Amino acid sequence: MLKSFSFSSLKTFRNCPQKFRFRYIDKVRAPKAETADLRLGNIIHDVLKQLYKRGADGVSVSLEDTLSLYESLWAGIDRDKITVGSDYLGVDDYIRNGRKMLTTYHGRYYPFDQGTLLDVERKLSFTLSGTNFVFSGRIDRLLKKDDGTVEICDYKTGRRMSQTSDPDFYYQMGLYQLAVQANFPQLTNIELSQYYLRMDEIVTDKLTPDRVDQLKEDLRLTVIETIQAERLGDFPTRESGLCDYCEYEELCPARRHRLMLNREDEEEPSVSPKQQAFDKVTELLDKHQQMKQLEAEIDALKGDLGRLATELGVNRVEGEGGYVTVKHSHEEKFVVKTADPQAFADLSFQARQLGLEEYFKLDGRALMKDVYSKRRLDDESLKKLQPFVIEKETLRVTPRLAKPKGSDA
Ligand code: SF4
Repeated sequence: MLKSFSFSSLKTFRNCPQKFRFRYIDKVRAPKAETADLRLGNIIHDVLKQLYKRGADGVSVSLEDTLSLYESLWAGIDRDKITVGSDYLGVDDYIRNGRKMLTTYHGRYYPFDQGTLLDVERKLSFTLSGTNFVFSGRIDRLLKKDDGTVEICDYKTGRRMSQTSDPDFYYQMGLYQLAVQANFPQLTNIELSQYYLRMDEIVTDKLTPDRVDQLKEDLRLTVIETIQAERLGDFPTRESGLCDYCEYEELCPARRHRLMLNREDEEEPSVSPKQQAFDKVTELLDKHQQMKQLEAEIDALKGDLGRLATELGVNRVEGEGGYVTVKHSHEEKFVVKTADPQAFADLSFQARQLGLEEYFKLDGRALMKDVYSKRRLDDESLKKLQPFVIEKETLRVTPRLAKPKGSDA
């Protein structure tokens, strides 16, 4: 188990468990591409930290000095090593955008002495109540407003503005709130604010006690999921647009083969394992496609035969090499849980009322998924179930056909 969890480690786990494993469990060091977005964000954070620290000491920093501090932080950086994730922007455009953001921000908040500054870039840790799970977070700015409200501020320099209902807002800012409450219990009236410098907007929220309780439970369950994954060594890959920026792409079981095939400069004999794997996948996909087509044709034939047998008034139809039987039946079935959970719950209730418990069979999968793996029982009860847990290795090979080009439309 990790010594300490953060918003970004849990987000990594949610986005891709395999990446979480590389980064936080196996601690694989892989050179990480430095992106212009990340560098710009770091520099803006550094500048704002200085402005607020000096503002709290009664020193007002002019716009001119702010911008020269900003330029000086870019000065020692090798721009050729910075990756830009855009076809039409260069590093200079990022620098220009940062200058614009700071100019607008400076115009709005100069001389940076609003309220009482409690701290900047404050790292806080806490143990989640009822667990031994430790969390930590770094808060950009902690401020006591004149009306006594404590504002937890986070700066954003990206292009996308969150809503308070977004999971990222809830988890990141909520985790900061738990950290502040645990470390400074006297601070009670807490407000969560994300400052979007690019848009000159603030997104603010206050969490109700119910949402704070829900957040604690969500955090607890996510940490348990990571522990469970570690116990079983089960960290699935989850491919997404983020893979293009993942420093572990070369090691990733989901991406490595494609990278090998794309590496044209590598000379390999024609029957190398990577070529063999490529050929086998091509063959498997081809067979899978044929099988799906055959299944569809068989279903259509069965439908035709059912109709023809009814027309002829027979229940056995002869053909070359054999025959088929056709049986029309009408059967009664109870509703199943997956089709209608509410109706199934009502049925269960009625059956219990009628004393028919013996017709309920144990749903081992649901017991594992909803209860055991989420540790939703006390330790003693879990211990009693543990001897019945069977661990087994499985191999699942799942063909996924590529979408035909242009099918998205
Ligand atoms: S390349 Fe993609 S799937 Fe692989 S570890 Fe990274 S994020 Fe996960």
